[in-house]
Amino acid sequence: MLNQTRIFPILRIVNPATGALLREIEEDAPDTIREKFARAEAAQKSWAAEPLERRLAVIRRFRELIVERTEVLAAQLTDEVGKPIAQSRNELNGLLPRLDFFLTEAAGVLARETVFTDPAQKLVEQISHEPLGVILNISAWNYPFFVGANVFVPALLAGNAVLYKPSEFATLTGIAIAALLHEAGIPEDAFIPVIGGGSVGAGLMELPAAAVFFTGSYATGSKVAEAAARTLMKVQLELGGKDAVYVCDDVNVEAAAAAVADGAFYNNGQSCCAVERIYVHERIAGQFEKAFLDTVNGFVLGDPADGKTYLGAVTRKAHLNALDRQVKDAVAKGAQLRCGGHVIDRPGNYYAPTVLTEVNHGMDVMREETFGPIIGIQVVKNDDEAAGLMNDTPYGLTAGVYTVNQERAGKILSQVRTGSVYWNCCDRVSPRLPWSGRGHSGMGVTLGKAGILAFTQPKAWHLKS
Ligand code: NDP
Repeated sequence: MLNQTRIFPILRIVNPATGALLREIEEDAPDTIREKFARAEAAQKSWAAEPLERRLAVIRRFRELIVERTEVLAAQLTDEVGKPIAQSRNELNGLLPRLDFFLTEAAGVLARETVFTDPAQKLVEQISHEPLGVILNISAWNYPFFVGANVFVPALLAGNAVLYKPSEFATLTGIAIAALLHEAGIPEDAFIPVIGGGSVGAGLMELPAAAVFFTGSYATGSKVAEAAARTLMKVQLELGGKDAVYVCDDVNVEAAAAAVADGAFYNNGQSCCAVERIYVHERIAGQFEKAFLDTVNGFVLGDPADGKTYLGAVTRKAHLNALDRQVKDAVAKGAQLRCGGHVIDRPGNYYAPTVLTEVNHGMDVMREETFGPIIGIQVVKNDDEAAGLMNDTPYGLTAGVYTVNQERAGKILSQVRTGSVYWNCCDRVSPRLPWSGRGHSGMGVTLGKAGILAFTQPKAWHLKS
């Protein structure tokens, strides 16, 4: 008889700071994806039937496990994505207020609402919030705990089952997240990790799921939306950004330069809301550029496992070429390379922190997402010019203005087409506020109360006694 042994494609997980092989893991195949979906469908109804208090208790236990295991999880994240260990710890510690927000708000948001009563007609109108069913959570690698939990925590609290595909670059962390949720008490079939790269993500989109919550690039997000249109599943997309900061002429220049440099280079610039372009008022431009370069030249680049490292490895090796292309394009078109601008000759994926001045919007670095340690600084004459340039991009995630004058900031920020705006801060996410993008930065909302309701569908109750 023929031997029916299955051969699965193998995912090789490599440390981006050294190139060393960390693990080899079998990817899911079309039939295992379908089998996982069937298991999740069967589990969803009983999970949704659990009292909300039970679902909250499980997420509370998940929170405790995150606190207990922070060091191990942070070390694994650093090994897998090249993030400096201090920043991996920050991600895990920063997860806790997000969990607290969901734990505090879920009961109120998910409660049945009475919206109208008419005693004369003996009529009551109510809205209940039902789970969507089985949802797909296709996630990114840059903040796997943050961007994952923004989806799977409210989804599970609302009674959905989740097929969760971590990015292939954050697979070990994805598997660890699943193990922690199961240990905390989520039934194994209510949260199922699906392992693999882009083709496995595309395979998930063939399933008759209720919804897809995708975090990633605009290019992949568009493919996900097209695939979702075929089955009419609900689509939510958290995509990239080209986030701008404008520094006015009335600021403390050194303090603003240090804050904006951190917004641009934290996590090697691999944050959806990293500062990707800077506009500076001509009156302070020279002083600002000098202070900015001083800060960047002080950043410690090196082994991500070392607590002193601020700039670790770039996660995806292939992205080094894309970074180089942006720098070459800018320099060819007249930009001044003030520091960096090259791959660093050492093991692992390292790109030197790069500052470009004399830039303009004819250069890719000012209009296309960079997602790495490169920044352009453009001098502007006034606030109107800055506001116009801030809107000259298809993306619309965040924008910030540094000035001592709140009214001045408000006037500029109200003209800017982005989902979040910042006065005297940047690269910031709050669990209490809705996180959303305009244009190529996506559609739908996570976080805030709207980011809990997103995982439900309303049912209208017309009640006559
Ligand atoms: P990608 O778009 O490359 O990948 C995102 C996810 O989609 C991964 O899990 C990927 O799998 C999967 N995927 C790839 N191809 C397909 C497909 N055809 N169908 C379905 N799924 C697919 O993005 P990155 O992971 O590189 O993440 C970086 C991007 O994410 C940046 O643009 C960043 O700005 C954005 N982002 C946005 C955030 C926001 O809140 N707006 C937050 C964080 C990141 P695999 O990786 O295995 O190929």
